[in-house]
Amino acid sequence: MVKYVRVLADCPGIEGLLSYSVPEGMELKAGDLVNVPLGNRFVGAIAIEFTHLELEQNSESKYLIKPVDSIISSSIFPKYYWQLLERTADYYRTPLIQTLKAALPPKLLTHSSYRIRLADSPAEINLSESGKNVWEFLQTHSKNNKQGISRKYLYQKLPKQAVRGLRELQTLNLVSVELEPPTRPKPKYEDVVTLLNGTAEISDRQQEIINLLQRIGGEVNKTEFLKLAKTTSSTLKLLAEKGYITIQAHEVQRKGGKAGKIISDRPKELTTAQSQALTAIQNLSSPNLQLLLHGVTGSGKTEVYLQAIAPLLAQAKSVLVLVPEIGLTPQLTNRFCARFGESIVNVYHSRLSDGERFDTWRSMLSGEAQIVIGTRSAVFAPLPNLGMIILDEEHDSSFKQDQPQPCYHARTLAQWRSQLEKCILIFGSATPSAETLHQVNCGEAIYISMPERIGSKPMPKVNIVDMRLELANGNRSIFSKTLKVAIAKMQSDQKQGILFIHRRGHSTFVSCRSCGYVINCPHCDISLSFHLGSSNRINSLICHYCSFSQSPPITCPSCNSCYFKHFGSGTQRIEQEITALFPDLRILRFDSDTTRNKDQHLQILEAFQQGEADLLIGTQMLTKGLDIPQVTLVGVVSADGLLNFSDFRASERAFQILTQVGGRAGRGADLGEVIIQTYSPEHPVIEAVKNYEFDQFMHTELSDRTLLNYPPTGQLALIRLSSISAVKVEKAATQLADNLRQLESHWQVLGATPALITRVADYYRWQILLKFEPKYLVSLPSLEELKILMGDKSVRLSIDVDPLNIL
Ligand code: ADP
Ligand code: ZN
Ligand code: ZN
Repeated sequence: MVKYVRVLADCPGIEGLLSYSVPEGMELKAGDLVNVPLGNRFVGAIAIEFTHLELEQNSESKYLIKPVDSIISSSIFPKYYWQLLERTADYYRTPLIQTLKAALPPKLLTHSSYRIRLADSPAEINLSESGKNVWEFLQTHSKNNKQGISRKYLYQKLPKQAVRGLRELQTLNLVSVELEPPTRPKPKYEDVVTLLNGTAEISDRQQEIINLLQRIGGEVNKTEFLKLAKTTSSTLKLLAEKGYITIQAHEVQRKGGKAGKIISDRPKELTTAQSQALTAIQNLSSPNLQLLLHGVTGSGKTEVYLQAIAPLLAQAKSVLVLVPEIGLTPQLTNRFCARFGESIVNVYHSRLSDGERFDTWRSMLSGEAQIVIGTRSAVFAPLPNLGMIILDEEHDSSFKQDQPQPCYHARTLAQWRSQLEKCILIFGSATPSAETLHQVNCGEAIYISMPERIGSKPMPKVNIVDMRLELANGNRSIFSKTLKVAIAKMQSDQKQGILFIHRRGHSTFVSCRSCGYVINCPHCDISLSFHLGSSNRINSLICHYCSFSQSPPITCPSCNSCYFKHFGSGTQRIEQEITALFPDLRILRFDSDTTRNKDQHLQILEAFQQGEADLLIGTQMLTKGLDIPQVTLVGVVSADGLLNFSDFRASERAFQILTQVGGRAGRGADLGEVIIQTYSPEHPVIEAVKNYEFDQFMHTELSDRTLLNYPPTGQLALIRLSSISAVKVEKAATQLADNLRQLESHWQVLGATPALITRVADYYRWQILLKFEPKYLVSLPSLEELKILMGDKSVRLSIDVDPLNIL
């Protein structure tokens, strides 16, 4: 009896399952990754389900069905993992294969490629121009003929001649073109030198090398050893021949994210509040597995996590720690390494290289007890034996994927995993989200509060500065007198401070003071931002939406005047102005311009931590988990950008950001101070931040939202449409909204409306917001159904379920 398998193939446009026969002797299980033929190539696929009879009886189809080529990787998914993926695909209205791609490390399922190899020398043959060029290209570019050269590469390099030239060479049998199965990131090998007991005679110099090897432990990476022993490969080879050492390739695991010296540490004696929290965590049992740890910044939440984790590791269980921003992972990672040792702590996030991700992912599959610390996508970590998930800074919006689909929230997925795998789930935050508080109110999560800092250290005093009065008193600077005095004092006390700016870039837009002309991005409906060039780069105007850039004009393109003004106050401008006021102050800037590559944020934070600067100027990223004891002053240059935002979550977000950034002050021995500059000091958010009135503030916020049926009571889904054609997208959006209105029950259709920034990268964007009564999200049609209701296949459509950005 022939066995058939239905697979999900990694091929755009194919959304259903494809059938293949399973060759005799191949032990294939659901969830295995396989390589299957599709058309004239091979693609990666996942085995989903098996059939025996039905297809076999249909003798016709039997001949059409091709066999599975090979198994790429077997039993990759832990128990329940498949259910998690299906639920994610279903809830976020996303095809399963797309969901799978979000979950798996990149390149696990990659397409196969054609490889070209030279066959014979064309000494006597007359080739056409293209044939000759392709031939010459192949000769110079294929380093080794066994490996060949990829056809794609040839097409890229000789776009005009490749097709015809290659065909000619093929007809003349001068080259072979073969299809090869997909490649995966290969494990990395490194030569390791190991000491043996040699007896043969060797020179003194060689004996010295052997002694050195013995002193450093008898086993070492070859490259390192060559440097250390100041010797050569051939000497080592000789020693190996004489039986003193062996040189063998060992597989190495590429790990990312760890840096700096790690000094081991021991569990601290817990405070009363911390022990209560720990006990509550230890008492969690199915079905009540969720706990919200609401602890002010510096209340010792991390210590609680560490002590809650220890017994789980002893039971050979693994722990997943999700954090919002990679900029802070090194700090947190180091604390975990210090406690449990580097070998069992793995980091997993999208800034790792493909190889690092692949290795970490594979080591998770091993099932050995370990701690995985990662950002959003790590919620898919394939840990088979999960004991606990921790979502630190659970209120943070970076846990939500905006695009592409699935637009999942790591918090939601963590909840599903916790239910499926019966593992404990801890939410930690100083400013818990409305969603998690709602769960507490509904009895779905235990609530534990830690309202005091360790050692009863007082919370920093929050000073609100009314910028209207500054202006009235003739102060035109972006810094109030209060802030200037505080910075001067900080400097003379030799303390450190943080200045928080709500935007990145030098200023938000550039306009002409004479005629008001604003320079816009030619591809988007948004103005360009001015970026001051660092020492080796020139000034530029950049679009934050499509990355378009140009150099700033010297005169106004409209009226030719030379009065260009930079509005807004980005990090660069603040840096300039501060330097003008305090020339001796040492400043570091921390924003997405200065932390573009993998290790830069770590370097900046370490430099600051080590006292190499007095003031750290930065954006949003600074609000997260930074713990630097010497910081006594935190200044918020302007809170207004946060307050005046027409999103129902604006107040919640502003409260969170201001409280979090303020929480960076006074974590060490000295009292901290927070200075918030604003033009609306009487705003309820400002009042609440000033007086640390979290409970009242969120209580009001939650009841307001319930009244209007906004999340977390009701639910939202945002449908986004885009097209090159402004007319088409408008028509499709309006039609879809009309059709949805006809269907609606227990939900409301808001729109269609143009998106806040209507054109981005030449695409016109419209949106429709759907507002569901509690528990009615299920009535949201599928992606396919929505596409039918929209009626225009050329318009792009995507769904964001539980959107965080609705503008
Ligand atoms: P949070 O995560 O709530 O911001 P942390 O766990 O970072 O708080 O703790 C703040 C500081 O207090 C850290 O420097 C930490 O080492 C220290 N700390 C935490 N718990 C204790 C304790 N029980 N005894 C002494 N120091 C502690
Ligand atoms: Zn002008
Ligand atoms: Zn643009």
